[in-house]
Amino acid sequence: MSIITDKLKKIQDDVNNACVRAGRNRKNVKIIIVTKTATLPAIQEVLRHGFADLGENRVQHLKQVSDEVGAFLKENHGKEAVPSKVHWHMIGHLQRNKVKQTLQICETIHSVDTLRLAEEINTQAHKLGIHANVLLQVNCSGEPQKYGAPVGAAIHLAEQFDTMPNIRLTGLMTMAPLTMDKNRVRASFARARELFEEIHGERIAGSKFKHLSMGMSQDFEIAIEEGATLLRIGSAIFS
Ligand SMILES: *Cc1c(COP(=O)(O)O)cnc(C)c1O
Repeated sequence: MSIITDKLKKIQDDVNNACVRAGRNRKNVKIIIVTKTATLPAIQEVLRHGFADLGENRVQHLKQVSDEVGAFLKENHGKEAVPSKVHWHMIGHLQRNKVKQTLQICETIHSVDTLRLAEEINTQAHKLGIHANVLLQVNCSGEPQKYGAPVGAAIHLAEQFDTMPNIRLTGLMTMAPLTMDKNRVRASFARARELFEEIHGERIAGSKFKHLSMGMSQDFEIAIEEGATLLRIGSAIFS
């Protein structure tokens, strides 16, 4: 077995076990493979195992990799478990002048943390004749992180996003604080979960509001225990 295959198997096992421990249905936890540090052969191997959700954090790299992935999917249609198409996720900070390019590739943007960015996504999605899936990124770590709306602003922002006709607000995204302290990591995921339930409880964005994007290579098991539905995993597979 190759190293990538081994690592994918280990992640799957760890995700399955965390779901069992937390009493969660495995079907409600999706792994997004973050390709930002991966080589093309490594990505191709991931695709051969049937993974169909990929994430990138920079538009420039997204464009290049998505072209390469597109060519591979075409050539390998129907082979092994290769999916017929990939769902791309933008997970990194997004500048407004890159929104159009991003929407031409990505179905979901996880990193929407200001009204101005949401407005631009709505405008460009309208021009493209699409509905953009958007997650509101929230800073739940209690430390001054560069990106993510403050917890106190989240409900109002969610209400505003929900008024935009070409945006589908499908959930929240958060990043744990950069720390080895598992209690602080857990506390920030728990805060995101509370906020998620609050927005859900107020029926903002209705039944399409169902995702909690949290958990990376170092902390996805805690994230699963705290209710994550979308994991963003890169280095545990590619390094
Ligand atoms: C790089 C990145 C990830 C993946 O992190 P790993 O530690 O490599 O698993 C997840 N989310 C965001 C926003 C990232 O930039």
